Amino acid sequence: MKIYIDQIPDTGLELSETCEPSSLELNRPDIRLTEPINISARISKGPDFISVELAIEASMRFNCSRCLEEFTVPKSLETKLNLPIENRDVIDLTNNLREEIMLNYPLKPLCRPECRGLCPVCGRNLNTGKCSCKPRGEKNGSS
Ligand SMILES: [Zn+2]
Ligand SMILES: [Zn+2]
Repeated sequence: MKIYIDQIPDTGLELSETCEPSSLELNRPDIRLTEPINISARISKGPDFISVELAIEASMRFNCSRCLEEFTVPKSLETKLNLPIENRDVIDLTNNLREEIMLNYPLKPLCRPECRGLCPVCGRNLNTGKCSCKPRGEKNGSS
């Protein structure tokens, strides 16, 4: 998203845009955005800066860090930026958008808070049912 400084009226400007994830050049294998990203911005101009209230909606695809299942969640991010004008005519928000998405990408995503994960013995996804392995800590007895 690009903001043309001389197109911002004193009353402020609202912009919205849909962009393809590839245009943000996220280039990280762990960040997967599957749908176009909706961006809306409320922009106002100060004497030597612009302030931007950004709202980003993106579908993020993860692999659960416990059970490894793939899942997609729609995420809404909101942030407020103050950007110096520095004699620029145009301010490109691509870097800010990329940063915002990376900051909000969880390191250990969970498909649900109570995900049971995989059995450490047989690898079964315990969300789908119990396996016949003995729980840890109960290794005594006949086998
Ligand atoms: Zn899970
Ligand atoms: Zn098992």
